[in-house]
Amino acid sequence: MDIAKPSKTKELLRRHNLELKKSLGQNFLIDNNILDKIVDLANVNEEDTVIEIGPGIGSLTQKLAEKAAKVVAVEVDQRLEEVLEETLDEYNNIEVVFDDALEVDFDDLVDGEYKIVANLPYYITTPIVMRLLEEGFNVEQIVFMVQREVAERMVADPGGKDYGVLSIGIQFHTTAEILFDVPPDVFIPQPKVHSSVVSLDVLEEAPVEVVSEEFFFKIVNAGFQQRRKTIRNSLSKAANINLSRDLVDEALESVAIDSRRRAEKLSLEQFATLSNKIYELFH
Ligand code: SAM
Repeated sequence: MDIAKPSKTKELLRRHNLELKKSLGQNFLIDNNILDKIVDLANVNEEDTVIEIGPGIGSLTQKLAEKAAKVVAVEVDQRLEEVLEETLDEYNNIEVVFDDALEVDFDDLVDGEYKIVANLPYYITTPIVMRLLEEGFNVEQIVFMVQREVAERMVADPGGKDYGVLSIGIQFHTTAEILFDVPPDVFIPQPKVHSSVVSLDVLEEAPVEVVSEEFFFKIVNAGFQQRRKTIRNSLSKAANINLSRDLVDEALESVAIDSRRRAEKLSLEQFATLSNKIYELFH
């Protein structure tokens, strides 16, 4: 059943009496080319187990199931049960789990490693991605559609306005790449924003060495609390950690970072060296 066509999607929604909920980010894809491209570029193959977040009426789920060994789709909206039973009826390698992707333990859903592929509900992008990376799930690759601005922040290099806590979080845990951009008119209803499909290859080891990951991210957060301030001022006035100006000065000097620079100019490596030095002086 080809459901990713405007007429078929509308017919299914009408027949199952479904009103889409903006609060759940329900913008459904109605373009087969985009769906095929996501599955192709995610390199989904017969050895893969895929977890999909938010199957909606199942258009991406079908395509994933055609290529993967197994697909587990996690959907929070129980109203979609009936329509998914209809659209996924022909497939014997799909399991739909009605649960909240912000709560569920993904490792409990499948055995071994898996890929996550999704057209994400945008309201949960940052919490879901940080959860996936910080909680050390067995996920090897994440390919998902996100709001374009968020994608740009994920892959941003130091120096620009897009570079921040999200860029560092993503680049600490993954190799991130924007695969392609997607216009609003391939969704029902059309979102107000442009989208991009992003690939995140989860790294086994972080690209920089940090004494404490928790402390590293504390320093990164502190540095970006007020972007316009110098790194010296941001760190010594940060609300999330109590660092004296003397300690900050000593740390900056000993790792040769100019105290007048802003956090947005510091690379991942510089944040790592700096946080390691502060950790040493602080403890
Ligand atoms: N995969 C479908 C597609 O591409 O057309 C639907 C994508 S739609 C952007 C996002 C889907 O995520 C919706 O079906 C929505 O109900 C679901 N969703 C929203 N919040 C969720 C959550 N916390 N956990 C799991 N699914 C969620």
